[in-house]
Amino acid sequence: MTHDARRSAVGRGSDLTSRIRFRLAIGVAWLASRLSRAIGYHGTSLPGLVGERIDPAILARLAGDLDPIVIVLGTNGKTTTTRLLARILQAELGKPPVTNRSGANLRQGLISAILESRTAPRHRRPSRAAVFEVDELAWTGIAPSLRPAVVVILNLVRDQLDRYGEIDMVERRWTHDLAALPLETTLVICADDPRLESLAQRSGRPVRRFGMAASSANATESPAGGAASADGSPCPECGGPVEFAAGSGTWLGPWTCGSCGTSRHAPDLVVGADGTDPEGWLRLNFDVAGAPSNRPASPAVRVRLAGSAGVYDAAAAVLAATALGIDPSRAIAAIDRATPAFGRLEEIDVDGRRVILTLAKNPASLEQAAAASAVRRADGLLIGLGDRPAEGRDISWIWDADLESFPRGPSLTLTGSRADDLALRFKYGWDSGAEPGPGRPRAYVVDGAIDHALETSLRNVRPGGTLVIVATYATLLGIRGLLERRGVATALPR
Ligand SMILES: [Zn+2]
Repeated sequence: MTHDARRSAVGRGSDLTSRIRFRLAIGVAWLASRLSRAIGYHGTSLPGLVGERIDPAILARLAGDLDPIVIVLGTNGKTTTTRLLARILQAELGKPPVTNRSGANLRQGLISAILESRTAPRHRRPSRAAVFEVDELAWTGIAPSLRPAVVVILNLVRDQLDRYGEIDMVERRWTHDLAALPLETTLVICADDPRLESLAQRSGRPVRRFGMAASSANATESPAGGAASADGSPCPECGGPVEFAAGSGTWLGPWTCGSCGTSRHAPDLVVGADGTDPEGWLRLNFDVAGAPSNRPASPAVRVRLAGSAGVYDAAAAVLAATALGIDPSRAIAAIDRATPAFGRLEEIDVDGRRVILTLAKNPASLEQAAAASAVRRADGLLIGLGDRPAEGRDISWIWDADLESFPRGPSLTLTGSRADDLALRFKYGWDSGAEPGPGRPRAYVVDGAIDHALETSLRNVRPGGTLVIVATYATLLGIRGLLERRGVATALPR
């Protein structure tokens, strides 16, 4: 046997071994998924964990069968954007893409999602297209295993410090991760965030940008939920401070550097907010550069999203679809009347009361919830704060959030395992400094038991009224579980 022949025989042998290992990993992971469901677990990460233990290359192998792959990154809005893009792909392909559920955005969650799609009954089997939301830091381990056609980067804002550390650290890791991508991977970024602009330019990959129309930037609720954050976003050219056309502290729309004059790169897609409908949902119009000529900006579409965060999430989904070659007008039509995901202003009717559930995990999302409460004319507010591992142990971020922007009129109940910290935060926010005024709540109820607090809050809202529930992840999941048991909410898909 020649040297070459021997080497290729060894190659065939190891190829066979790795194929066997891959099949074994898939089989055992499937079994793990069945077993964990049988004993009542959702099983979103166990199959992936088991599969990867048997075949460490399982993610890359599974991803090899998917095409195209889109990754959605960002501190806020990943779930909504992923959901919108999945909706567009489903409309386009006639079958849903492979996608991961909210929260299952670590490595094992992705593996489990792909495994599950492969073992689904034939009539429910998804297409080969995939859209995954990926945790900011988990992305580092995942990037080399996937060969995404498109990576969407929504924003980079301050999150719980214990999980993510400072923004600069996340930015450094992303710079490194983007360098591991294929050269042809297209980045879809928010042009209104100078920090993302410099990240994209450094990557050397093709970039497509979405941005908010100047006319909408000063008319959209909740500036804090915008592209950037109060942490500041330096000029990509000189590192100097940038000024937003819509005014200081707006962080939306076009910007210019005060030191060197660099300004926002012309977006490929400009999104405008055309006000809200009577229910508070956004009306959006999209202007896509390079769309067939003579076509006016799209007529306004109604999306069941709110605030500047909703504007950006919709723009990101439409532009990502366009980057995949989907006609923009078809993409826009597909997100018309899209329904919100868990914790994204989901509405449930409870005995004639409108109950709105919204997730808060950092100052920006809490401020969005405050703005949404005002737009929806909440009659009652139930705010929950917990510190289970999935929510983050460090709750100090509540001190960075502008809780004073919550409307003053509605009854207010505070709940969750860290309800006392919230109460302290509200006490210092509302009882110091600001002048007492009409409609300003002088009292709030603190009740750490979520079942009891929910009942109190519902009692405080008359039929026909609106109760807005804002809570951290596990606490909101707990409250939703209580509503499911009352028979008013359908169980979340598992
Ligand atoms: Zn500059």
